[in-house]
Amino acid sequence: MRDFKNLKRVVVKVGSSSLVNKDLSINKQILVSLMSSFKNLQDKGIDPLLVTSGAVALGMHELNLDKKPKEISLKQACAAIGQAKLMEYYNKVAEIYDLKLGQILLSHDDFSVRKRMLHLTDTLDSMFKHHIIPVINENDALAIDEIKVGDNDTLSALIAPVVNADLLILFSDIDGLFDKNPKIYNDAKLITEVSEINDSIINMAGDKTSNVGTGGMNTKIDAALIATKASVDMIICNSNMISKLEDIVNGNLIGTYFKKSTDSISSRDHWLIFRTKSQGAIVLDDGACLKLSSDKKVSILPKGIVSVKDEFLKGSIIEVLDKNDNIIAKGITNYSSSEIELIKGKNSDEIKSLFNENRKKEVIHANDLVVFKDGYYGRVIK
Ligand code: GLU
Repeated sequence: MRDFKNLKRVVVKVGSSSLVNKDLSINKQILVSLMSSFKNLQDKGIDPLLVTSGAVALGMHELNLDKKPKEISLKQACAAIGQAKLMEYYNKVAEIYDLKLGQILLSHDDFSVRKRMLHLTDTLDSMFKHHIIPVINENDALAIDEIKVGDNDTLSALIAPVVNADLLILFSDIDGLFDKNPKIYNDAKLITEVSEINDSIINMAGDKTSNVGTGGMNTKIDAALIATKASVDMIICNSNMISKLEDIVNGNLIGTYFKKSTDSISSRDHWLIFRTKSQGAIVLDDGACLKLSSDKKVSILPKGIVSVKDEFLKGSIIEVLDKNDNIIAKGITNYSSSEIELIKGKNSDEIKSLFNENRKKEVIHANDLVVFKDGYYGRVIK
């Protein structure tokens, strides 16, 4: 048995392939299982939050499209009609169980911009207080590359720490993480517990070159990294287990369990690493990179900067790269990209004469910087 005592909040994510049938019509049975399980959770004093996909798929069904449209505006129109349908179906079933649902559609900005994230937290808190189950999806009808999260595995991992969830469950069309691709190897074994995300786990999830991968497992491993580093336990399991949600939260050995990290990070660092989108980057020379990798708290000075990528304003969140384009840190810049172009490689006293006003000597101050001690952080930043 897994030790999930005192669970207060659980985030449940259900993917499109589980929610719709082959002909893209809604799978009503799944909705019934979900809502009846949510009722049981609420009766036990546990708050559920649902992250649901299915908007685009249902929209395609409404418009009689059998292929995902290439045209972005049509895909977004599908999301608009499909999201409304999705909520209609959920509400019909929720009424049977006397449950109240509330819809929230998010984009990456709702996490990136701290003020917006705090509003989101307040709204969700109020919903829980009034026993309203939040039903969350990406705002697909308006999302464009610059502001979207992109997949609901990541979205659910981003929302879990915002609501102080204890557990995140990803329901999908696979039983969990296998040591090799179960579609190819008959002797593939289900991994029941992962206590640390390392190279071997990432290889099991597969990549384009290894060819042992299970579809969609990569974003789930990214989600596991984000969730477990925020002290949230995570489980990946098959959506045919939705009716067993109570058993899962009781600790029965279902699916793959990713244990919350023993060296989780502060909530500010978690926000800066995983929940913000960077506006650009600076590249450091080897000496400056070495200084950052030491255990001391260091700031980034103009002297160690060799180049600047993209255009950004003072106060933006930017990535810090080494010469091989590896992300080694992220932070809030005191200078705009054009100003950094001007001061890069220069000593601090040379900079004074370049500006009329008094400017900080650090491009990124140590307090506004988070250095990636864990090499895997870079992998989840898109
Ligand atoms: N937000 C998308 C939808 O509702 C799904 C994204 C995903 O499946 O990860 O269609």
